[in-house]
Amino acid sequence: MTHLDGKTAVITGGGTGIGLAIAKRLAADGANCVLMGRNLERLEKEAAKIERATAIQCDVSDPASVETAFASAKENGPVMVLVNNAGIASSAPFHRLSEEEFLRIQNVNVTGVFRCTKAVTNDMREADHGRVINISSIAGLGGGPYISHYCASKHAVIGMTRALAAEWARTQTTVNAICPGYVRTEMAESAIRTIIEKTGATREQAIAELAKSNPQGRLLEVEEVAEIAGWLCHPDSRSINGQAIALNGGQSM
Ligand code: NDP
Repeated sequence: MTHLDGKTAVITGGGTGIGLAIAKRLAADGANCVLMGRNLERLEKEAAKIERATAIQCDVSDPASVETAFASAKENGPVMVLVNNAGIASSAPFHRLSEEEFLRIQNVNVTGVFRCTKAVTNDMREADHGRVINISSIAGLGGGPYISHYCASKHAVIGMTRALAAEWARTQTTVNAICPGYVRTEMAESAIRTIIEKTGATREQAIAELAKSNPQGRLLEVEEVAEIAGWLCHPDSRSINGQAIALNGGQSM
C-alpha cells in the first residue's frame, strides 16, 4: 500500500516532457494517472505504457473542453492530485510582441491553470487530501529578455499558488509551484533552435547559453522535476504550502 493508492491524479500536458515524467513518478506511488492534452493519439500511446493510466483529450485554453475532460476524469472517483503542467512558450522583443500573442500565452499558462484548478476545487475541499502542483518556472521568479509575456504568465501562476495556499490552509489541500530552469524537453529544444536561427550559434553554443543561468552549468532532466512533484504528494510534505520551489542548481533569484 502506498500513499497514492487508488487516488486519481490529473496531469495536464501529461503526454510529453515534464508532465509525462511526473505521471510516471506518481503512478509508481500508486496513483491512477489521467494524462490530459490536445494530442489524444500521443496521450493514449504514453498512457498505455503506464500502469493504471488513462488519456483524456483536453485543451486547457477552452473552458468547455476543460469541463468535459474533468467530468470524464472524475467518473472513477474524485481528483486528489492536480498537476497544472500544460504550458506554451514563445519569444519576442517587447516592441514586436503583439497583444494577441501576449493573451495566447496567458490563456494557456494562467487561465488554463485557473480553469483546471476550479474543476477540482470541490473534490479537494470535500476530501481529506488534496495536492495542487503548478509547474511555473524560474521565469516566474525573475526576468529575462524576450520573454516578457511568458515571464508574466509564470509570475501569475506563483501569485495564484500563494493566494490559494493561504485560502485553503485550514483544509488538507496544499498548493505549491515548482520553478525549474531549462529542462531537456521539446520546449528547451525549441529555444535551442531559436538561438541557432537568430544568432548563428552552434547547437553546443546554444545549449551552453541556456545552461548559463544554472550555476551547475547544465540543463535539468525531467526526472528531477518529477521527483519534487512526487515528494509534494507525500503526506509528510503537508506543511509545504504556498511555496515556489526553485530548481536550477542553486541560482540566486
Ligand atoms: P512540452 O512542450 O514537452 O510540454 C508542454 C505540454 O503542454 C505538452 O504535453 C502539450 O500537449 C501541453 N499543452 C500545450 N498547450 C496545451 C493546451 N492548450 N491544452 C492542453 N495541453 C496543452 O514542454 P515541457 O515538458 O518542457 O513543459 C511543461 C511545463 O514546464 C510548461 O508549463 C513549461 O512552461 C514548464 N517549464 C518548462 C521548462 C523547460 O525548460 N522545458 C522550464 C521551466 C518550466 P499537447 O500538445 O498534446 O496539447
